[in-house]
Amino acid sequence: MDLENIDRQGYYPRRAGAKISRTSLVITLCAILGLLGSLLLTMTENYTSVQQSATTITTNDPDLVATGTTSAISPTYKTTPAVPKTSPTNLQLPILPFPTLLWEQIAALQSHNRFLYTGNRYLPEIALTFDDGPNPYYTPKILAVLRQYKVKATFFCVGRQVAHYPNLVKQEYADGNLVGNHSWSHPDLALLTNDEIDSQINLTSNVIQQVIGVKPAFFRPPYGIVNARVLSKANLLGLTTIIWNDEARDWATPGTSVIASRILNLAGDGAIILMHDGGGDRSQTIAALPTIITTLRLRGYQFVTLQQMLKDLPKRPASTQAPIFVPTPVPSPSSAASPGP
Ligand code: ZN
Repeated sequence: MDLENIDRQGYYPRRAGAKISRTSLVITLCAILGLLGSLLLTMTENYTSVQQSATTITTNDPDLVATGTTSAISPTYKTTPAVPKTSPTNLQLPILPFPTLLWEQIAALQSHNRFLYTGNRYLPEIALTFDDGPNPYYTPKILAVLRQYKVKATFFCVGRQVAHYPNLVKQEYADGNLVGNHSWSHPDLALLTNDEIDSQINLTSNVIQQVIGVKPAFFRPPYGIVNARVLSKANLLGLTTIIWNDEARDWATPGTSVIASRILNLAGDGAIILMHDGGGDRSQTIAALPTIITTLRLRGYQFVTLQQMLKDLPKRPASTQAPIFVPTPVPSPSSAASPGP
């Protein structure tokens, strides 16, 4: 996409209320000082409250109620993993006004580093991402490999899976990995109503917040499919949408060596690698992972989370964010899409 032709001025509006009078400042400062003590006290209390509610996950859909019996499905961990006390977030302010046409939305988001196919294509860093989990059998095995090789990754979780297996998500986060939003039940979001899109994204962000104490900042639409309504919602919620530029279609179980070679052939500076820890038999993915990690390290790449990748993006991202691999096919004129889960 040619971003040079886009008038980005329109996407950087001044925030309302930027001009504040001196009197207002004095009043505000006094109020802040007066409330500071009580805020410090309540912050600790609120944090504790979030932790206590982490296993009480409910929804209006009876099919999606959390089981709450996590000990039997998380055999790798004998105790509930600790959640870090500080939880950084990259949630952003909405871009306003936000365009209505899909390609203009993507350009606007890319100019703010809010829609990524890759990281910095001039830095030898790579992000591993795992979709469709957590899965009680495969996710612990992937976490074990990541720990063994001291790699931090990003897990795009399906909300109802988070509700079923909260301890796995806590472990992902406690290990230093990021947890992203991959919708509640993995539909093609472009086929849903606005209210349904709201529910899919909000329910998932909420359940992740209940489990790890912080809302996810990163969002990956199922199948990589977006339309204007999906991106409008992601923008309003301050989410950064992450696609990918390196995948092996591991969901089709083509064989361990095929998965490894496909990933390694596409890998390069700033690559965002898509693999899966849920949604089917992921034993081939797990078997391929050590080869992928060790080979890419030998080539000089460093593995980073999406958060680090975002920090390392150039300040003027437009010319570096054009996709080097655009997922295909596009299913309809109103949406952009990719195959695979
Ligand atoms: Zn998926």
